[in-house]
Amino acid sequence: MPTHGGMPTQDDLRALDRQHDFFIGLDSDGCCFDSMEIKHKECFIPQIIGYWDCQPVSKFARQAAEFVNLYSQWRGVNRFPALLLTFDLLDAWDKVAERGWSSPEHQALRDWVAAESKLGNPALKAAAEASGDPILALALEWSEHINRTIEWMVHDLPPFPLVHEVLDRAGAQADMIVVSGTPGAALEREWAEHDIDQHVAVICGQEVGSKTQMLEWSAKDKYAPERVLMVGDAPGDLKAARNNGFLFFPVNPGDEAASWRLLHDEALDRFFAGTYAGAYEEALIAEFNRLLPATPPWAAG
Ligand SMILES: [Mg+2]
Repeated sequence: MPTHGGMPTQDDLRALDRQHDFFIGLDSDGCCFDSMEIKHKECFIPQIIGYWDCQPVSKFARQAAEFVNLYSQWRGVNRFPALLLTFDLLDAWDKVAERGWSSPEHQALRDWVAAESKLGNPALKAAAEASGDPILALALEWSEHINRTIEWMVHDLPPFPLVHEVLDRAGAQADMIVVSGTPGAALEREWAEHDIDQHVAVICGQEVGSKTQMLEWSAKDKYAPERVLMVGDAPGDLKAARNNGFLFFPVNPGDEAASWRLLHDEALDRFFAGTYAGAYEEALIAEFNRLLPATPPWAAG
């Protein structure tokens, strides 16, 4: 099994050894590691403002991008649709209109996002080269600049408090894997750097497939559905769990340490005791959804 150095395939995940009766899937960014805030606030947002003519409304652009990427139901979505949503919010914002600003020409990017299923730099590069479209070329330049900024800015982030302890305890009763949309190489490095890779059987990054697929391939029909738990910080993690009929534990954006404390002190024991599903889980998910609204605060009235 290629646990480290090379992402697992669908067959590898299907062939994973079942050593316990329980299974836990763990998201990484924003869930085990406090990496969402620094990536968006220090890496993505300055490049949005710089590349997409948001200088005159930089304060609003920052608020809109933070809402989309960190504090709304879109938390965790791909950078390209997230940029389009940011433009939409800015174009609908009265205070932005008062400044006489509207989002820059970007229709070609909208068309590409609507048509493309692999929303990453390789597909964008191919589309930009094939079409010669200046908007796609700009989007690619923007996206590559973000990656360079992240590489330079983001390092030495420790896991949230109690992550070590939870994984240590959980590993005695559950098989665990990492279920992430981050590039695999970065995941391998981060999990090894903090010595928490020892707790997981495999690390799945964005190259492996969707989160729904990762959970399906590694846990479906192997474990009782009420004995599979996904731990995540974004609606996409919840969806991946529900698509498979599995349980979900939310790490609440902005209050992550309290969530890990709850998992450590109470929720993990309930999961193993079979008393997590039902009213207890529903209350946690209701609170999670309340923290991630669909309407921005400035438009809520
Ligand atoms: Mg996450």
